[in-house]
Amino acid sequence: MRNRIYLDHAATTGVLPAVREAMTPYLEDAYGNPSGVYATGREAHRALDQGRKTAAEAIGASPREIYFTSGGSESDNWAVMGTAMAQRKKGRHIITSAIEHHAVLRPCRYLEKLGFEVTCLPVDSRGRISPEALERAIRPDTVLISLMAANNEIGTVQPVAEFGEIARAHGIPFHTDAVQAMGAMTVNVDEWKADMLSLSAHKFHGPKGVGLLYIRQGTRVDPLIHGGAQERGLRAGTENTAGIAGMSRAMEIAAGNIPERTEKVRGLRNRLCAALREAIPNLRENGDPDHRLPGHANLSIPGIDGEALLLRLDLAGIAVSSGSACTSGSAEPSHVLEAIGLSEEETKSSIRITVGEENTEEEMDETARTIISIVQDLRSMRGI
Ligand SMILES: *Cc1c(COP(=O)(O)O)cnc(C)c1O
Repeated sequence: MRNRIYLDHAATTGVLPAVREAMTPYLEDAYGNPSGVYATGREAHRALDQGRKTAAEAIGASPREIYFTSGGSESDNWAVMGTAMAQRKKGRHIITSAIEHHAVLRPCRYLEKLGFEVTCLPVDSRGRISPEALERAIRPDTVLISLMAANNEIGTVQPVAEFGEIARAHGIPFHTDAVQAMGAMTVNVDEWKADMLSLSAHKFHGPKGVGLLYIRQGTRVDPLIHGGAQERGLRAGTENTAGIAGMSRAMEIAAGNIPERTEKVRGLRNRLCAALREAIPNLRENGDPDHRLPGHANLSIPGIDGEALLLRLDLAGIAVSSGSACTSGSAEPSHVLEAIGLSEEETKSSIRITVGEENTEEEMDETARTIISIVQDLRSMRGI
């Protein structure tokens, strides 16, 4: 069964027809192993070359700096673990933030067990990391700074270029998780002075299970996946040719038309939020109103159980997420909402709506009407 209205684009997105078309040859005749010297292998290898070129162009990199992976989680793990391993003789201090994706935070926690020290920078009530706090946290033994470009739960966009500037001035490798940023803003490795940058195809209308790590030339990173000599010897495993062809096409599309797309998405999100604000006076919008991804609306509705609201919305054919997709189903409250200072009560009353370009004004109006009526219903059940 499909939801009629899909509003969980931060969790994943559908594959565009043009992307599917770019993938098809590699699921059909061109199934050769790109390492093969015969014709079908060479054909597959051309997909890698072309994909690498297209992907590099979309983020202002050079093709030799693009390393294909299995997605955002692998790219983040690789950046953190790979840098730590390559630099461990130089120092064992890593700087990250309290609101990173678990794909960054968990490898950091693992490295602590191996004797590394991790500084988790706090955020303000809007989810912003302060460049001054970053500057103060730097030590002589700092070997990595990993700070995300935009947050998946509350949509807060960070001053990434300032982080990159500070890292470069101190000669420390800078990694940024740009998984949510691709398609919503210009992602350019030089503008951000990023030495490593993670992307995941399924967050911008590409297929699931494929991503990339940009590694600036000269940055020292050990492999995470050892084995064959694929990806310049840094990432073993037969390449996901269809996935790579699809991701690079999706990147090309995501990097173009950004002003038009974001204006449309922002307009839809604002229309929905305005309708909700009007009917639900104590609604709280989490995140930074001045620096927020265009499609994100993370809402706390006092007195309402977010989980109950999202189940009722699903029954009505509308797909949204609880405070965080990654923690839904688990008892653990969102570390991001906690970091911006929400109480456990407020965290539990939160839902995340993320709008995409294929949504319509009619869908926004129907969603607003449905949420308002469920909220009234849930409140009357509780006698408030
Ligand atoms: C989705 C997401 C990831 C993980 O990407 P996968 O490809 O699903 O492994 C990492 N970071 C952020 C910010 C994300 O939104």
